[in-house]
Amino acid sequence: MENGIYDRLKRPLKDLRISVTDQCNFRCTYCMPKEIFDGDYPFLEKTELLSFDEIVTIAERFISLGVTKLRITGGEPLMRKNLPELIGRLNQLHGLKDLALTTNGVLLPRVAHDLKKAGMERVTVSLDSLDSELFGRINGRGLGIDPVLEGMKAAHEAGLKVKVNMMVRKGVNDQEILPMAAYFKKTPYILRFIEFMDVGTTNGWNMKEVVTKEEILKAIQTELPLLPAAENYYGEVASRYQYADGENEIGIISSISDSFCSSCTRARLSADGKVFTCLFASKGMDFKTPLREGATKDDLDNMITNLWKNRGDRYSDERRDGAGKKEKIEMSYIGG
Ligand code: SAM
Ligand code: SF4
Ligand code: SF4
Repeated sequence: MENGIYDRLKRPLKDLRISVTDQCNFRCTYCMPKEIFDGDYPFLEKTELLSFDEIVTIAERFISLGVTKLRITGGEPLMRKNLPELIGRLNQLHGLKDLALTTNGVLLPRVAHDLKKAGMERVTVSLDSLDSELFGRINGRGLGIDPVLEGMKAAHEAGLKVKVNMMVRKGVNDQEILPMAAYFKKTPYILRFIEFMDVGTTNGWNMKEVVTKEEILKAIQTELPLLPAAENYYGEVASRYQYADGENEIGIISSISDSFCSSCTRARLSADGKVFTCLFASKGMDFKTPLREGATKDDLDNMITNLWKNRGDRYSDERRDGAGKKEKIEMSYIGG
């Protein structure tokens, strides 16, 4: 085994996803349904959010223990003020190999250039449909697709690599699988399909609404033949497929039908400083309080090491095997 720390199932700690805000300018029905995330919803207070100094300190400790990849997420990460400043600081951390961001894209035209200047190499933009009317219903704000496509274009023109995430939910946007595939095949962007997941407790998840990896492949293959492609690196979440004609590729993230817990190397830091060892965890370890009370680097290293060494999470495998628990944190809080 290479250096670093390993959990109870011998999985190394390699990635940290950092949520920088629990706020969002969208109200996607499957993530932050507007009936629940309304004016009365107890969003985090400003003082509860980790400061940039605190985020950098925690990220640095994770990197010293083997993390090579950071992904910035939210809520909508571009709603966090001065985000390029944080990107610039994280990018300086010794040992970091990959710094990425997941966004709904609408604020990219404003910041893409500054993100690139700060050292960001790539972004993932979420788009669930090419039909503006349907997309407006899904995002809960009635917003059409043009601002998102403009965001992708701004990122591309600023020199960022762009991937596109499409969450697929049966009876909602599964008819968009082939049009999305055909459209993005002809762009410089790689499209990735995500099976609808049972994150949190507010999105009314039901197995019947999952479109599986096999069904997604079938919907595309009838028109656009695909060939399986090798994974780019150990623990890659998306299964890759290349178009048979050599033009572009797609990815499928099959957390439900073909779970990948055995190679899961990801920890997650919430906007208020809790570390979670699984997307479906119900509890995180508070790093903010110790940090504000003067924890040293050694203290933080010990906390991370103990947490990771005791990790036994394999929720998606358990769900596949018929088990599954109820209390989970919301995706908008932990960032996906
Ligand atoms: N706001 C940003 C965005 O939408 O890209 C970043 C945060 S969002 C929680 C990250 C990703 O999680 C998005 O691509 C979104 O489609 C996906 N997502 C959210 N809820 C999901 C669910 N229940 N099942 C599958 N994917 C989900
Ligand atoms: Fe916001 Fe992203 Fe969740 Fe949609 S998926 S509500 S854009 S955090
Ligand atoms: Fe990792 Fe948890 Fe997802 Fe399994 S269910 S792949 S352990 S985040």
